Amino acid sequence: MKRPLAALFFILVACHKPEPPALPRPSILLVTLDTTRADAIGPEQHNVETPNFNAIAKDARRFLQAYVAVPQTLPSHTSMLTGLYPAGHGLHENGRYLSPSQPLLAERLHAAGYRTAAFVSAFALARRFGLARGFDLYDDAMPEPANERSAKETTDRTLAYLAKASPQPLFLWVHYYDPHFPYEPPEPYRSRYASKPYFGEIAAMDEQLGRLVAAFRRRFGANAAIVIAGDHGEGLGDHGEAQHGNLMYQSTMHVPLLIAGAGVTPGVVNEPVSTRRVYHTVADWAGLDATSSLRRADREVVAAEAMKPFLDYGWQPQAMAIEGTTKAIRAGRIEVYDIAADPGESHDLAATANLSRGIRTTLRDYPVPSPDAAAAALPPNVSEEERRMLASLGYVASSTKPLVRADAPRPADMTHLFAIEDEAAQLFVREQYAKAIPLLERILAEDKFNLDAALRLGTCYSMLGRDANALPAYEKALSIAPQSLDVKQYLGLHYARGSQWPRAVPLLEQVVAESPDRVAALEGLALVRERQGRLDDAVSLRQRIFALRTPAPAELARLGELAMRIGNTQAAIAAFEKAGPGHDLELGVLYLAANRYEEARAALDRVPPASAAYPMALFKRAQVSVLLHEPDQASRIEAARQHADATTRELIARERLFR
Ligand SMILES: [Zn+2]
Repeated sequence: MKRPLAALFFILVACHKPEPPALPRPSILLVTLDTTRADAIGPEQHNVETPNFNAIAKDARRFLQAYVAVPQTLPSHTSMLTGLYPAGHGLHENGRYLSPSQPLLAERLHAAGYRTAAFVSAFALARRFGLARGFDLYDDAMPEPANERSAKETTDRTLAYLAKASPQPLFLWVHYYDPHFPYEPPEPYRSRYASKPYFGEIAAMDEQLGRLVAAFRRRFGANAAIVIAGDHGEGLGDHGEAQHGNLMYQSTMHVPLLIAGAGVTPGVVNEPVSTRRVYHTVADWAGLDATSSLRRADREVVAAEAMKPFLDYGWQPQAMAIEGTTKAIRAGRIEVYDIAADPGESHDLAATANLSRGIRTTLRDYPVPSPDAAAAALPPNVSEEERRMLASLGYVASSTKPLVRADAPRPADMTHLFAIEDEAAQLFVREQYAKAIPLLERILAEDKFNLDAALRLGTCYSMLGRDANALPAYEKALSIAPQSLDVKQYLGLHYARGSQWPRAVPLLEQVVAESPDRVAALEGLALVRERQGRLDDAVSLRQRIFALRTPAPAELARLGELAMRIGNTQAAIAAFEKAGPGHDLELGVLYLAANRYEEARAALDRVPPASAAYPMALFKRAQVSVLLHEPDQASRIEAARQHADATTRELIARERLFR
């Protein structure tokens, strides 16, 4: 009889702590506000009017010291949807891919019987980056070429969905992107906030937030639970940072956070909390698990990271810890601030501060990500077009593994390069090489170990055909990181472009052998194999590439031609079938070769009379007609004769099937 006693004891102990009351399962609305500083929204602000947020805040539990896990859109949302810091979920930057093995909040709620829907407003959160798992509906349709949509558009779509929603409990995530740069609020906010358009975007977003929350409450009444969180703030020039992602000061780390509705005790919380606890709070509402829910006032040491400058440029990795009113940032050396007395973080207290054990161990133990793993965590099937879409949003994650060194610069000391780095990266991805060159030269002059800049500089010169400038840039890259596979890859691609292409072979072979999924190296090697006349290799390399990224129709057609030339009928058929319309002659010929006469007939019948390929199509069609014993085979042969050109005339004359 020991077990019941033990169970009773366990229950008594558990009951000893005051638990929030059990609830009927509410419908849950999660609203994430992109690029929204804590001091840019709410009843205390003088810069901006946010009446809707303020009204929701009145009967909400509001966290005045809420911190994001990382100041970038995709990893920050990933922390809210996994409950983990980036060190736990492995996604540190935009443009990367969440491992499919990482459980997501929507999956848990879906499994628990919730309907699940998400409406996001920027390509940075598109389905392909891995957050859509578990959602019945994941609306990431973006208008082109903007790749983002306004809070108004997103709200319109969400309200249309809510109007049709069934009474089943719903988990709804809505993401607003408006305050992200560039700041272009709609009227009347454009005029009202003409001198501070960032705040105009916040005010415009607030209007839509009001519509959304009102509609959700109308639909679910008292059984509605709401959480609103910022995904990061915006530098607006504080500490030399215009936007976000490179530093860890309050302007970008400190965000609005509130919970309201079902079972929430209204009030204001001054203890620091992490927005990753959005995950635990939603799970709590759904009756799954109350651990770490924001409905409870657990004191915690809040951690965070900003690894983009480390992963992209090799600068110092950055981690942060906050407990009470003390905030410490480790970036090489440690900075310490009293965020209550000095929210602008202008007095570094590191020399005199006596840090708590919690802060010290958090900073000491926070893991620095492996550049290998981070560089490998690219979404599958990213096309060149999508890379440009990411670039248009200002997200250009480097694919180069940085040089890691103890005396790397601190990001806070490199603020003069932030804008130049961003602009150079965008110009590079948009293939504006001549414009990128002076920026990359300047970056390298001021940041001598920036491997990414050296490789991009070499590539700019290479793409412009300026080999005499390209080689010194690649030599510089080699001197920075002699063993780097990235350097071998870029140099190999440089040679593959020019007359010295045989020198590319050993370089690219080594890269592909050591890192088999590097698309760029595989592409370079495929071209070189074609030049070497090794078409079998060229075909199988292209097949590997297209398994890793989505090919363009013209690329599939090229693969089809190569496969045809080496007589690989199956590969050729597969490629042309996927390449879309315009390849009916090729398909007809290939189906015929594969004895698939019915399909050959259908394909050849689709070749239009105006096509230059029409005589050949008629000749092949006549062959098929004979092989299928069609009653009109004689007139088919006659038609082929009448429309013959120089090539088919001879073929018809020699064709035994026609005798
Ligand atoms: Zn964001």
